[in-house]
Amino acid sequence: MVIHLKNTIAETTAQQLGQQFQAIVSKEADYFVLVTPFALKTLPDAVLPFVQAAWPMDSDIQLASKNYKTELRKIRWGNTEIGGNTNHTVVIAGPCSIESWEQIESVAKLLKSLNISTLRAGCYKPRTSPYTFQGLGLEGLKMLAEVRRQYGLNIITEVKDSSHIEEVIEYTDIIQIGAKAMYDHSILRRCGEIRKPVLLKRGFGTTLQEFVQSAEFILSGGNSEVILCERGIRTFETKTRFTFDLCGAAWLKQYTNCPVILDPSHAMGYAYGVPDLAKASVAFGCDGLLIEVHPNPKVAKSDAAQQLDFEVFTNLMGDIRNIAVAVGREII
Ligand code: PEP
Ligand code: MN
Repeated sequence: MVIHLKNTIAETTAQQLGQQFQAIVSKEADYFVLVTPFALKTLPDAVLPFVQAAWPMDSDIQLASKNYKTELRKIRWGNTEIGGNTNHTVVIAGPCSIESWEQIESVAKLLKSLNISTLRAGCYKPRTSPYTFQGLGLEGLKMLAEVRRQYGLNIITEVKDSSHIEEVIEYTDIIQIGAKAMYDHSILRRCGEIRKPVLLKRGFGTTLQEFVQSAEFILSGGNSEVILCERGIRTFETKTRFTFDLCGAAWLKQYTNCPVILDPSHAMGYAYGVPDLAKASVAFGCDGLLIEVHPNPKVAKSDAAQQLDFEVFTNLMGDIRNIAVAVGREII
C-alpha cells in the first residue's frame, strides 16, 4: 500500500509508522510517503488520523503503478522533457562506447546538426568477455563532460557496478543502468538517493514484474525520475541478437507511470534491422528512442555490428520525423 501522510506529521512519527507496517519511508515535497508490502490492504482505524490518502495495491509494483499515479511522470534534463503530456519522442543517440576525442566529437557534431540534444556513450562497459574493450573509464567521463561544455549536449552514460557509481553520478545528466546491472541493489539503492534521472534497462532474462520491481528500489528511495527501457529479451531465436518485446512495452505503457524508451539497436544486434524497428517504435508512441551511431561502425570497439553509420542515421531521423507527425507526436 502507498500511503501519503498528512503534511503535519513529523519524521519521528513517520518512521514509527514505517516500522509498524514494515514500510519504506521517503519524503515528497512537504509530506512523508510510506510504501508497505502489497499484502497490506486496509489500515487500522487508529492510524487514519495521520493519513492524507492511501492506495491499496495488487502487487509490489506500487509507486510505478498507474493505480497510484495515473499521470505519466514528467522527467527533465537540460531543456529536454520526456513523459507527462508532452507527446514527445526524445531521441538519444551516440556510440556504444566512447573510444577517443575525435570519435565522440564527430558524433557530437552530427547530433547538433540534427537538433538532437542528448548524447549517449558508455565509459564502463559490461562486456561478456574480460578480453574485449572494457571502456575508457574516468578518462571517458571527462571527455563526455568536455563534449557537454563545448557542444551544449546532455549526456547519458552507464554505471556497470558500484565501484565507479559516484563518478558516473557526478559527470552525467542521466544515469543508465544496463541490462546486466538491473539487479544490482547497491546501484539501485544509490540511484534512489540522488536527484537525477535514471534510465533503467530491462534485463534480457527479466519478467516485466521483476523489471518494474527493480524500478521500485529507485522510486522508493525517493528518486521519482525513472525511465524504463526495453532493449530486447532472450528467446529461443538466435538469428537476431535478442527479441524486441513490443508487447512488453505496451504493457509498461498501460500499467506503469514511467516514460518508456525503446532501444532497437541492442534488441536487433545488426544495423540492417535498426531503422525499421526505430520507425515501428515511433509509430508505437514510445517516449524515447535509444540508437547507437558511430562514425565508422566497422572498427567500433564494442557492438560493431549494430551501430548505424552517419548516413543511415541521418536518413532515419528524416523518416521518423515524418512518422511522428503522422501519429501526432514530435521528435525532439
Ligand atoms: C549499451 O547501452 O551500450 C548497453 C550495454 O546496453 P544493454 O545494457 O542493454 O546491453
Ligand atoms: Mn552497446
